[in-house]
Amino acid sequence: MLIVKKFGGTSVGNKDRIYNVANRCIEDYKKGNDVVVVLSAMGKYTDVLIDMAKEINPNPPKREMDMILTTGEQQSVALMAMAMAAMGVPAVSLNAYQVAMHTSSAYSNARVKRIDTERITAELEQHKIVIVTGFQGVNKYDDYTTLGRGGSDTTAVAIAAALHADKCEIYTDVDGVYTADPRKVPGARKLDQVTYDEMLELATLGAGVLHNRSVELAKKYGVRMVVRSSLNTNEGTVIREGSKMEKMIVSGVAADPDAARVAVVGLKDEPGVAFKLFNALAKQNINIDMILQSIGRHGKKDISFTCTDDDADTAKTVIEEIMDFEEIDIDKNVAKVSIVGAGMQSHPGVAAKMFEALFDANINIRMISTSEIRVTVLINEKNVERAMNAIHDKFNLGDE
Ligand code: ASP
Ligand code: MG
Repeated sequence: MLIVKKFGGTSVGNKDRIYNVANRCIEDYKKGNDVVVVLSAMGKYTDVLIDMAKEINPNPPKREMDMILTTGEQQSVALMAMAMAAMGVPAVSLNAYQVAMHTSSAYSNARVKRIDTERITAELEQHKIVIVTGFQGVNKYDDYTTLGRGGSDTTAVAIAAALHADKCEIYTDVDGVYTADPRKVPGARKLDQVTYDEMLELATLGAGVLHNRSVELAKKYGVRMVVRSSLNTNEGTVIREGSKMEKMIVSGVAADPDAARVAVVGLKDEPGVAFKLFNALAKQNINIDMILQSIGRHGKKDISFTCTDDDADTAKTVIEEIMDFEEIDIDKNVAKVSIVGAGMQSHPGVAAKMFEALFDANINIRMISTSEIRVTVLINEKNVERAMNAIHDKFNLGDE
């Protein structure tokens, strides 16, 4: 078997943990598997490097930022290869340049385009464990790039896809994917499996376990992913295409506190208003999430939408400059709470049940949006934990 194993920062945070990871990889290797290891920078080292850079220049050039950030992963792969060498196991560390991980040119947010497999394959053929830097790539100018924070997951899946690996294991400091954040919902339970689509929604909604682009890639190339802990041997959560039978109606509840609601009242009720408004916001790179438009009355209408807390003030300025309206109101004390489940598509009444849970808890819903496998509500931030627990209980997500 060819196994890609990715370990996050906490899993390689110190000497003991590095040896722990080395042991786990060697175990698979000694069983006769080909093992490719993808690592993040140690602990919070990426943050340390960011602080270091900002001390020199609060607004560092993005190219140079990627140049420094890639050193974090280079450090951890070299140390891992040294640990394995100390244990008498042949291993080699490779950075993005040595592998040739080709990415788009966008510094700090590059996308993987193509991975050359020759070098990795040649090293595996010599029976070495191959240890590759996560998070980094090389663009067409032969410069280093990074894939965005948390991007090592995406490196691992991309390598697994390129090598047609049998599985891609993502090791982290929790046991897998949960029905809700266990710090907020004490009854949260680890899920044995979720579908790619569910995981994609959960990752995008800020569940925090996986880089959402890694899930996108895994789905596209059918890479079998497992999320599990590096600190114990518990079975993790398998992420794969779900068969109809196994689809859960609701598999999890997620919350995203980083939301702001912008309400524009008294816009003209005529063609092109929404276009003008959202086009201007798009030009400022402001990502819009939920959108609500009132019915037109007396030639006027209202449009509300959500964006991140950070973007709300810019949005207001842009709208004041270009739109014709009566009033604008921003509320940053709101949060999104969502339920996700692939089985929703074929089960009526799921949204109603969620709303009932919120009603029972006396929590007011400010906005609603849905996709095929998700229902999201916007509520006051202070009610988030209560809402999550109420919904989690209502759907009995804590029970097997
Ligand atoms: N070290 C990078 C970060 O902290 C990439 C990763 O951990 O996946 O964002
Ligand atoms: Mg991560």
